[in-house]
Amino acid sequence: MSKSRRADVAIAGAGIIGLSLGLELRQRGLTVIVLDRQRAMLGASWAAGGMLAARDPENPSAMLLLSLLSLALYPAFLERVQTLSRQPVPVRTRRTLQAWPDGMAGEDLLVAMEAQEEIRRWIPGFSPRALDERFIWLEEESIDPRDLCAALPIAFRQAEGVLLEDAPVLNVETEGSGIIVQTPLEKIHASAFVNCCGAWAGVPLLGDLPVKPVKGQAVTVGLEPDRLRCVLRTPEFYAIPRGDGRITIGATVEHVGFDQTVESHRINELLEQQVAQLLPEIQAAKMLESWAGLRPGTPDDLPILGPGAIEHCWHATGHYRNGILLGPATARVMTQLIFGEPPDVSLENFFPSRFAITENRAGI
Ligand SMILES: Cc1cc2nc3c(=O)[nH]c(=O)nc-3n(C[C@H](O)[C@H](O)[C@H](O)COP(=O)(O)OP(=O)(O)OC[C@H]3O[C@@H](n4cnc5c(N)ncnc54)[C@H](O)[C@@H]3O)c2cc1C
Repeated sequence: MSKSRRADVAIAGAGIIGLSLGLELRQRGLTVIVLDRQRAMLGASWAAGGMLAARDPENPSAMLLLSLLSLALYPAFLERVQTLSRQPVPVRTRRTLQAWPDGMAGEDLLVAMEAQEEIRRWIPGFSPRALDERFIWLEEESIDPRDLCAALPIAFRQAEGVLLEDAPVLNVETEGSGIIVQTPLEKIHASAFVNCCGAWAGVPLLGDLPVKPVKGQAVTVGLEPDRLRCVLRTPEFYAIPRGDGRITIGATVEHVGFDQTVESHRINELLEQQVAQLLPEIQAAKMLESWAGLRPGTPDDLPILGPGAIEHCWHATGHYRNGILLGPATARVMTQLIFGEPPDVSLENFFPSRFAITENRAGI
């Protein structure tokens, strides 16, 4: 016979979204169980670059207010995670040199030669692809998601959250005034359920949301630490220094289902055809690690935050390329929704109901 447990809130998915939400709900005094089908923080949250890229010109403008809320919450979030876990999660960079798209307005565009000298102070080997290429400095931070992967599960457990690993959610059913979540070994009875399953959040069992995996392949190389002192980002690639000589370079954007194979030709293309144009010395760098992860993509590139079609069920997913940035804001606004409070920013653009979803009443 399967065991049974109770909690105020059961969360499926122990990535940054599920665990940040769990931590915030614990802070408000609720009992929380987070379940993951594998070990915590091994999905997209492990594969990410870690840029807090609120002002990336590629982002949909409808995401700006949520992004700015998250930036405002980030210092307290990192402080809390570090205090609870006793693990460091330092800010690794504080500046980004962003290639600015043709035709897009932008203040402080850097085209003059003096600007190129300033760029070389931060990136000594920088070599522009064309003399009229435009760049802008963004005062933007980045973290190393691997630091968060080590710290966040410990912080959640230290906050007396229950984290069940190797516990896939097999079924979710309404039960009177709550929900029953079924795993292979136990039943969880909860007052509310939140789907934070990232790229897997769209499976019929969890509500048939239009979430699709978008594969990203990335690589870390080693170079002298002072060769890159800020993030360098173009529409085709980014290079993120970790401050210790490691530089993470990403990422491909591929619509190939749940495939997570690392292909050396895609990694070489990224290094040789993209990064090397602006940073030729990257060709001499030592390759340390390469990997692939699955971003949770949505049809309009916006997250899905809000109530599901079934009572007591919520969705917090679809963060696509910005889940590391949006973790703290997602935790804040989802907690406010669950408590019936008005959220800090309008969630009109993010509600699941913007898509025609047919949720199966037997499950969610
Ligand atoms: C290469 C790459 C680079 C990126 N760079 C950045 C960046 O620089 N900045 C940024 O902000 N974002 C970045 N992202 C995006 C970011 O990683 C994601 O948006 C974010 O990690 C999504 O977090 P999540 O918790 O929703 O998903 P995940 O971290 O994928 O977690 C979902 C979890 O759900 C679990 N799960 C699935 N199904 C079930 C089930 N049935 N039962 C229980 N558990 C289940 C999975 O095992 C997984 O652990 C990047 C992503 C990739 C792939």
